[in-house]
Amino acid sequence: MFDVPNFLEKIHSWERVALLAPSFPVDFEYPKIISDLRNLWFSKVTELTYAAKLINIHYHQTIEENEDKTYICSNCPSVVQYIKNKHPNHKDKLMPIASPMIIMSRFIKKQFWPETKTCFIGPCFAKKIEAQQTGEIDTALTFQELQEVLNYTKTNNISTTQQTIDSDFDSFYNDYTKVYPLTWAVAQTMHYKDILREDQVIICGGFKNIDEAIQKIENNPAIRFVDPLSCDWWCIGWPGIISKESTESKTKKIQDYKDSMKHNKDNPHLGKFEYAQWIETKNTYI
Ligand code: SF4
Repeated sequence: MFDVPNFLEKIHSWERVALLAPSFPVDFEYPKIISDLRNLWFSKVTELTYAAKLINIHYHQTIEENEDKTYICSNCPSVVQYIKNKHPNHKDKLMPIASPMIIMSRFIKKQFWPETKTCFIGPCFAKKIEAQQTGEIDTALTFQELQEVLNYTKTNNISTTQQTIDSDFDSFYNDYTKVYPLTWAVAQTMHYKDILREDQVIICGGFKNIDEAIQKIENNPAIRFVDPLSCDWWCIGWPGIISKESTESKTKKIQDYKDSMKHNKDNPHLGKFEYAQWIETKNTYI
């Protein structure tokens, strides 16, 4: 059971940056969520979408430069553990590039706000384990837990801020990777069609389909990339999500948010690759 007072006490003295997973529009409204997080003493609020863009560029390059290799996307921590435990002879196929959560935290701490601590907020319990085991994220919350924190501070009339409330994200985001929680997102947003044929890619969700994908790559070495998410309904269907709406309705919320944010293309802080081209990308969770 999540201990809200303990969490608040722990983070109280930190200079905090919130790393918000791109599935947030399923459970929270933009831009209110940003004000809510600033009210919880988060001095910076960022989306993970910039890290997703960095990952896409590195995935594209790695697949293109290693023509004889097959890769399995390693963004989902449950997939990583599943391949290691159930299919250990395919462990070497896990993409050696860290997940968006880890890349974003490295970027924030090493290049921009080095004195800060990072708090990942997303749909996923497995990310909490990844955060703890890698030691690269200071704390991780599910959306359900964040809602508990917001309810607790409201019910107990806890004043959490002295700051001016700003209603937009801090720097570094990206538009097209806002679809990352959906099943086909990594393959599509890294533009796989520039380097692979359609029949060289498998996109799948759920462990049963991952097992089938593994069988296919064993039978067909021409397959070069598997893009799996362990949850049957991807990163919008995991229990850390609050909404009980249909998958179609949740997907629409993600797409609508992406479309509505197109105006931000003019923002001078739009994440550019060169800001982070020297970032360490090694995946230490594999
Ligand atoms: S598919 Fe599920 S376990 Fe994997 S990253 Fe998404 S929410 Fe987490």
